[in-house]
Amino acid sequence: MDADIIVIGASPAGLMAARNACEKGADVLLLERKEEIGTLPHPANSFFKGMLDRCGEKADSSYIVHYLKGMKIVSPEGREVIIETPGYSIDKTKFDRFYTEKVIKTGVNLRTGVEVNDIRKEGGEFAVWTSSGIFRSKLVIISDGINSKMASLLGLKTMKHPEDIAWGIELDIRAAGLGKPEMFEYYVGNHAPGWKTTYAPRGGDNAAIGAYVRRCGKDVTPYLNAWIERFKKLKGLEEIEVVRKLSGGDPIVTIPGEYIMDGVMAAGGAAGQSGIGYAMRAGQICGDVAADAVRKGDISKNALSEYRKTWEKEFKVEHYLGRIGLETLRKMTDREIDEMVRVFEKEDLSFIHGSACEQAMHVFTFMLKKKPSAMLKYRAFLRNK
Ligand SMILES: Cc1cc2nc3c(=O)[nH]c(=O)nc-3n(C[C@H](O)[C@H](O)[C@H](O)COP(=O)(O)OP(=O)(O)OC[C@H]3O[C@@H](n4cnc5c(N)ncnc54)[C@H](O)[C@@H]3O)c2cc1C
Repeated sequence: MDADIIVIGASPAGLMAARNACEKGADVLLLERKEEIGTLPHPANSFFKGMLDRCGEKADSSYIVHYLKGMKIVSPEGREVIIETPGYSIDKTKFDRFYTEKVIKTGVNLRTGVEVNDIRKEGGEFAVWTSSGIFRSKLVIISDGINSKMASLLGLKTMKHPEDIAWGIELDIRAAGLGKPEMFEYYVGNHAPGWKTTYAPRGGDNAAIGAYVRRCGKDVTPYLNAWIERFKKLKGLEEIEVVRKLSGGDPIVTIPGEYIMDGVMAAGGAAGQSGIGYAMRAGQICGDVAADAVRKGDISKNALSEYRKTWEKEFKVEHYLGRIGLETLRKMTDREIDEMVRVFEKEDLSFIHGSACEQAMHVFTFMLKKKPSAMLKYRAFLRNK
């Protein structure tokens, strides 16, 4: 036996799972196919403090490139909803390395440049077949991201509504002063079917712009090109210098499905849990449950379902509300989105706080008081589109 627990993928979910399991006394081997952590980085470039708080983590200045005061949501005709909530533009390479250092200090055995090709159950243990030989453990945590090969090899259908994965491209760009503003900007409407285009200031002359769409295929280029032209007009720019282009899939509107079996759990994108913060929290829960299971000598699906119970208690309502919200948005016309945004425009929205469920309640109550007829716009959800 090489370890009690093998974690596959040094992702936000995998790093947290490995750290928590190790802190609880398990012997952990973390396998990552990249030779060097953080290169080539994942396209994620920002997150908001609220989510990090829920993971019990503090943002660290070593990976923050710019502090954000909040976000602006911009409707098709340019109406703005401003939500003040602190956030961070991050250097994802430095972020990954920050957590990797922490994980190694905890005592996790990290092996980079090791690609996992197969997982087989042999007697009472798992044989993990890799580019560097076979490693054996009592339990396996899969955190190899959204295109998880390992989950599908084991026959786990970890994601409900996989057709709703949002495909996105992020461009790192440069132009004079472009990185200075302190609000992250989201642009919603049918120019980006099903999700958004974005502008993330990254300090000084640096920024990132992105386009994310659903149900329009994986090639987002036409939407990104249109966004670049619109963005240049909006910001009065003749030219922008493109520094880097990164792309991928984000399971923002999928719902976690079957992500646990005897001796195996999946976390993060591999389990349809989208976003750095959600992946980290899933990893933490997974690591805790895995260490307890190994210690008690019961790695059955039933014992590991403690992970599902805790995850659902914390996030199930949020996931479903998020899906309903983004599906409604996908089905709305630009005009309907503008009318909806009008209800919130120029209002003080500092009352929106708490969990996503509480936030949704605040929004509904506000709309009911302010303009009950606007609630009818939610009928769009029922459209067959
Ligand atoms: C374009 C884009 C932009 C995004 N922007 C943001 C953002 O700004 N903020 C945010 O919160 N979220 C963002 N997301 C979502 C977020 O990045 C993901 O939800 C998050 O990275 C999930 O991480 P993860 O733990 O599931 O795995 P990943 O970050 O995908 O990592 C998977 C890891 O597993 C390793 N791996 C894969 N296969 C194997 C194998 N066979 N053997 C060994 N190792 C393997 C990979 O090398 C990788 O290191 C974005 C997503 C996309 C696509």
